Amino acid sequence: MVVFQMVWKVIGKNKIPTLIQELNKEYEVFTPVKKENLVFFERVSSGNEAFLDFQNTKKSPKEVFFPQTEILFTYEINKQGVEIEKAPVLKRDIVLLGIRPCDAKGFLLLDKFFSSGEYKDLYYLEKRRNTTIIGLACNRPLSTCFCTSMGGAPFGKEGMDLLLQDINDKYLIETVTERGEKLIKKLPWLKDAENGDIDKVRSLSRNVEKAIKSKVSVEGVSKKLDGMFDNKQWDLIHEKCLGCGVCTYLCPTCCCFDILDEATTKWKRVRIWDSCQFSCFTLQGSGYNPRPSGKERMRQRIMHKFNYFPKNYGENFCVGCGRCVQECPVNFDIREVVEAISTDIWREKDE
Ligand code: SF4
Ligand code: SF4
Ligand code: SF4
Repeated sequence: MVVFQMVWKVIGKNKIPTLIQELNKEYEVFTPVKKENLVFFERVSSGNEAFLDFQNTKKSPKEVFFPQTEILFTYEINKQGVEIEKAPVLKRDIVLLGIRPCDAKGFLLLDKFFSSGEYKDLYYLEKRRNTTIIGLACNRPLSTCFCTSMGGAPFGKEGMDLLLQDINDKYLIETVTERGEKLIKKLPWLKDAENGDIDKVRSLSRNVEKAIKSKVSVEGVSKKLDGMFDNKQWDLIHEKCLGCGVCTYLCPTCCCFDILDEATTKWKRVRIWDSCQFSCFTLQGSGYNPRPSGKERMRQRIMHKFNYFPKNYGENFCVGCGRCVQECPVNFDIREVVEAISTDIWREKDE
């Protein structure tokens, strides 16, 4: 039996481009990149493209495994029938570097959705299975971050293979899984960490955790929602929502999609992101829509995150990244909704 041994290494910040350069020889490397003041994940071909001095990326990294638009296969209809050409498979394994703890936890929730039950999503799973995740602990959480309320932590390691922890001019690298350990072994030039580095990180992690002021009480919310399908508050809270879907597109756990056929020189079967906040999301061919107004659509979003998903998979479907709070054009705040349910304000108002 192979025993996994946790090791601690350090890397100077100025050596990150070298690290990426080296990883690029064997892997497809994705890191945060900065373009016109927006930070998001992209495949990088050179070490200098990586941008690690961010708080959180605008878009979540889910699109590495579940792209916004993905060709599932192409096909041609000819006299012989239908000729199908499969989508290209991964040529090289993936390294995802710079993943925040909330987003890494998000992957574990997506794994449940895409891999449990009778139908496995091979497109997601193939990429996911062949990926090493190098996380980046969070030193400067935003005022909208509430990961600690959702069972996470700014220095959390769930869902990571390696974790980078920022200590001034260098990163402490902690191995979290055997996969991470294997990758570290390919980088013999990394220096061992000193005890002082490890102590520094431990105290930093305690302080950053205390700095997260946004707290939401989620305990018991799932059960309370059981009796709230017809609560009058749904009629009110959706009113300012524009139905733009930004909250779901940026969310690291939202995974709804539509599938359509597109005709170019060949037919393509494409999957694209969808959102329960769109009016056509549940529109049926007959013209009937079981969620005809914003009320039903907003209720779906909250119920899915805090009632249906916990019932099906045992966990809330939110990691507290705060993106939906930060980017909603009308300041809809999911934390306020959860808090009001948790503290029985909704129930009292309904009586
Ligand atoms: S981002 Fe805001 S306005 Fe847009 S759908 Fe979500 S809650 Fe509604
Ligand atoms: S619901 Fe909002 S806070 Fe929760 S994971 Fe999604 S974007 Fe982040
Ligand atoms: S139903 Fe809505 S809240 Fe749930 S995953 Fe889909 S888009 Fe997100």
